Amino acid sequence: MAKPLGEFDFIDRFIKAQAALGQPMYRRGDALGIGDDCALMPPLEAGEQLAVSTDMLVEGRHYFSDVDPKALGHKVLAVNLSDLAAMGARPLAFTLAAALRGLDPTWLEAFLSGMLALARDAQCALIGGDTTGMPANGAQVFCVTVMGAVPMGQALRRDGLCDGDDLWVSGSLGDAAFAVQHRRDDPKLLWPAPRIALGLRLRSLAHAAIDISDGLHAEIMHLLRASGGVAAQLDWDSIPLGPRVQQAVREGVLSATQATVIAVTGGDEYELLFSAPPECRTEIRDLAMQQGVALTRIGEVRSAGGPSIHWHHHDGRRVDAGVVEAIGHGGFTHF
Ligand code: ADP
Ligand code: MG
Repeated sequence: MAKPLGEFDFIDRFIKAQAALGQPMYRRGDALGIGDDCALMPPLEAGEQLAVSTDMLVEGRHYFSDVDPKALGHKVLAVNLSDLAAMGARPLAFTLAAALRGLDPTWLEAFLSGMLALARDAQCALIGGDTTGMPANGAQVFCVTVMGAVPMGQALRRDGLCDGDDLWVSGSLGDAAFAVQHRRDDPKLLWPAPRIALGLRLRSLAHAAIDISDGLHAEIMHLLRASGGVAAQLDWDSIPLGPRVQQAVREGVLSATQATVIAVTGGDEYELLFSAPPECRTEIRDLAMQQGVALTRIGEVRSAGGPSIHWHHHDGRRVDAGVVEAIGHGGFTHF
């Protein structure tokens, strides 16, 4: 039988050797990656500030135990890169803390290959972390802290909504939540693509941005509250539905209303929701073409009324009160 993998073997053979591949930071004389007590970051460029975010994935809560380890490795980094994207920050580096029941080489190799492939794409280097054992009945935990750079004062914050701004959303919504409900695999759920390039371009267009990890409704409420209690007028018929949800409507599995409720409340999307002044509409549509990503205008910001969402249809009719009520309770919360 093969000798069990030790913690230090694991770090040297599986992590350190792989982390440097395709990462220019590891070839710089003024930086230091895995192997010492701390990593050392190269200096930021003039006028930049550091953006830092942490996100954790817990077995049984954020992912199923039988998930493809490669997809899980991708996802734990992707959800963190999505936070950088939502701030308009350029990825620099990340750390990985892992609480593991054991060191299964096949599983870990797949996990790391998924994570490090995305790290190379995003030019975000793994520079350190921590590894700890868990009891046999414990849930595994993966925690990534990501660092990015953003020009001083130009980050896309949640508190930047202005009266009269348009509200926009990237991509399409609902497929990830639909996949969870039906315990199906879906690329949106397994391989989320953080909108890094979009976030960088939005710095010069958007007033505020957030990523939709907890569902559109919940995230809009976060923006409205952070921006001092403004309100949102949203067009129910403009919500872009994911292809799987659209198919479910065609097949009669979901009603049109149910489909939009899933799109509005479902979490795990990692799309960007942002606000921009109406003067930017043409530029935003051009940006969508350039980047090959759908950008849909779903409503607007109104300063009167306190932090609240007002839903209407294309023709101005109000959305059914029962549906609105259900949405208010439907966003994902942890407790
Ligand atoms: P320390 O005793 O200083 O915490 P460790 O023995 O935990 O050091 O780690 C040794 C080196 O390996 C450090 O550079 C640390 O950042 C890195 N490391 C440990 N675990 C991980 C991990 N899961 N991912 C990336 N780097 C790790
Ligand atoms: Mg340690």
